[in-house]
Amino acid sequence: MANVSKRLNSLSESQTIAMNQKSNAMKAQGIDIINLSVGEPDFFTPDHIKQAAKDAIDANFSFYSPITGYPDLRKAICKKFKDDNHLDYTPEQIIVSVGAKHSIANVVLSVVDPGDEVIVPAPYWVSYIEQVKLAEGVNVIIEAGIDQRFKITPAQLEAAITPKTKAIILCSPSNPTGAIYTRDELAGLVEVFEKHPNIIIISDEIYEHINFVGVHTSIAEFPSIKERVAVVNGVSKSYAMTGWRIGYMGAPLWLAKACDKLQGQMTSGASSIAQKAALAALVSDQKCTADMNQAFRRRRDYVLSRIAKMNGVRCDSPDGAFYVFPDMSAFYGKSNEGKKITGSADMSLYLLEKGQIATVPGDAFGDDNCIRISFATSDENLVKAMDRMEAALKAIS
Ligand code: PMP
Ligand code: GLU
Repeated sequence: MANVSKRLNSLSESQTIAMNQKSNAMKAQGIDIINLSVGEPDFFTPDHIKQAAKDAIDANFSFYSPITGYPDLRKAICKKFKDDNHLDYTPEQIIVSVGAKHSIANVVLSVVDPGDEVIVPAPYWVSYIEQVKLAEGVNVIIEAGIDQRFKITPAQLEAAITPKTKAIILCSPSNPTGAIYTRDELAGLVEVFEKHPNIIIISDEIYEHINFVGVHTSIAEFPSIKERVAVVNGVSKSYAMTGWRIGYMGAPLWLAKACDKLQGQMTSGASSIAQKAALAALVSDQKCTADMNQAFRRRRDYVLSRIAKMNGVRCDSPDGAFYVFPDMSAFYGKSNEGKKITGSADMSLYLLEKGQIATVPGDAFGDDNCIRISFATSDENLVKAMDRMEAALKAIS
């Protein structure tokens, strides 16, 4: 596009959102597609949260909100960090944004200069590398395949660091793999970071509460590096609030101030009504989150039990989030009705056309061996989807 900046031309569109839109468009044409592409809870926002938003409208919360978020919300976020993560922040260190995606973009744009290197472990969430490109940074990818349960090792981290390394983006629990770093595994990475005091660590913990092992450790809990960690979280996944668009970050004061400045020129404060809903989510009973987690666990177990019986599919059991990321490479080079499947894009397309299930190709996340299947959909849909997947895979030879 001639009139569009080089910076923007270098960006790819979000593959997760693209697959979701394609699947919804096919559904609108009357095609019976089961959508396993999108990463969002299928549950409705709990009633007490919706009520708080209605109350906020009636109480005339219709004016510009403070750039960094309402003080009561930022205080509640401090309490959340303290209670859940043993992290001490003052409200000045909290920035409320238009979703966690926005929080990550704020940090990336605040710290990355053209040519700076940002380490991104693969499989990665699609937006990380595009945001780094937007900042004219250079992505340095560390490959962590299924054999290492999709987690990087301290030796890999050490090898990826150069004098140009500015930041790293970690995600635990991970989208797309569901991998969770244990405290010991994080301690190993922290030892490496201690040797490189200038690297900023962006820790995306948006799936914190979708956890099947019962323990979440934030890398910011390690005091030796806390002063250079930006912990990103939000209400989208934990409270089924994807459309409300509220994310937040806890960070050292200098970084919070930088994001405040950036937000002041880009978006201003996030929606006043949505902030009041997010406040209710954080300060109310957390049973709704626990109930959703239980449903996700049941669905994960079901999907894994079905996939285990599909010849040629190799799948790790995700410890959190709501995705499985099976290795489909045993099918590459094989065909159906004369059409060869050569990689994850072909595989996702085949499953869409033949099986009428929408998934996301692993190459969008930096691992072409795999595809991403979201199990954030109803139990009935999952039964049908797994039947279809099994039948479609049997037809490949
Ligand atoms: N990080 C990860 C890993 C995600 O999967 C998502 C989901 N879109 C986000 C961040 C952004 O979440 P949101 O902007 O809805 O808070
Ligand atoms: N995080 C979700 C996903 O990976 C939502 C889509 C997006 O924001 O990219 O599918």
